[in-house]
Amino acid sequence: MTTAWVRSLLQWFNESQREMPWRSDPSPYHTWISEIMLQQTQVVTVIPYFQRFIQSFPSVESLAKADQDDVLKHWQGLGYYSRARNIHKTAQVLVESYQAVMPSDFEELQRLPGIGFYTAAAISSIAFEKPVPVVDGNVLRVFTRFWGIYDDIRHNQVKTMLFHKLESYIKEAKPSDFNQAIMECGALVCQPQSPLCTQCPLQIDCFAYVHHKQKELPVKSPAKKVPTVDVVVGVIMNDNCLLITKRPDHKMLGGLWELPGGKIEKHESPEQALYRELREELGIDSEVGSQVCMVRHAYSHFKIKLYAYSCKITAGTPQPLSAVDVKWVNVDDLNEYAFPKATHKVWADLKKYNLNNLV
Ligand code: SF4
Repeated sequence: MTTAWVRSLLQWFNESQREMPWRSDPSPYHTWISEIMLQQTQVVTVIPYFQRFIQSFPSVESLAKADQDDVLKHWQGLGYYSRARNIHKTAQVLVESYQAVMPSDFEELQRLPGIGFYTAAAISSIAFEKPVPVVDGNVLRVFTRFWGIYDDIRHNQVKTMLFHKLESYIKEAKPSDFNQAIMECGALVCQPQSPLCTQCPLQIDCFAYVHHKQKELPVKSPAKKVPTVDVVVGVIMNDNCLLITKRPDHKMLGGLWELPGGKIEKHESPEQALYRELREELGIDSEVGSQVCMVRHAYSHFKIKLYAYSCKITAGTPQPLSAVDVKWVNVDDLNEYAFPKATHKVWADLKKYNLNNLV
């Protein structure tokens, strides 16, 4: 017999679920790509990225064969670029060791690059109907409210506890529907600030609703203060070409291109830092000119203030010493390369200049 709240949730999902391109064909490949894109990113943002990605790389084999730059270019703007690099690596592992077929087993999936506990649960339940519950932010919110759980959801024990509690219910339903129904209910109904309890399929049995505790739950300790890092980059032009460098794979934003430069140390002015960074990164001496813009950008664990200075080479030829590649790129061809969001903000500001006249 199906538990009443499970029945009510599934019926609601059947009537209310949103259309999503990966839902119409929930193959393991589509499920995997969509679940990775959906981490930290809203459905509406993901949809066009997913469609472009699948159009360019329709199969595991085509993704494995692709150039990493091309994969990153398709990811540009989604952020958290290690996700794209891991997707690419996993496609290659699947081709080399799994005949390009994604495994269905929850444990096995977690051995693949970039597939953790949550994504493995999503793939094995949604694409293979294995009874493995997913526990993401939505699920945590719904069930701490539903069951009246007052533990801090930043602690992993809460996730583990909910995973085991939900294991006994997922068996009562089609696992793909069960998991997607809970996530959809969290996204559409049990929203963080103003849950729409009167429309909720879980209302009758919900602790938070019955006891008016929606605002108290879930319990989440305050996030740590995010530090700000000052960074300086050089705008170095030569005959309508701009000098750009490629970040190493193992670093944050690895594989993306950027303007050369780096962190401003405490004792340094931006000019001094840029002169030093260009020597260390490219082996060149430079004359640092004036500041052309300053942009701000927030990443998940820190914020940056990025200063861009015009600059000209006075000695040496740029070589990739700490970067993995260096290129002179015609300014009209910049859109062929994948850049971080902060660099795009610099491009927007640079539009007001004639770049060749900067120094
Ligand atoms: Fe969330 Fe309200 Fe539904 Fe309870 S009744 S699960 S608080 S939306």
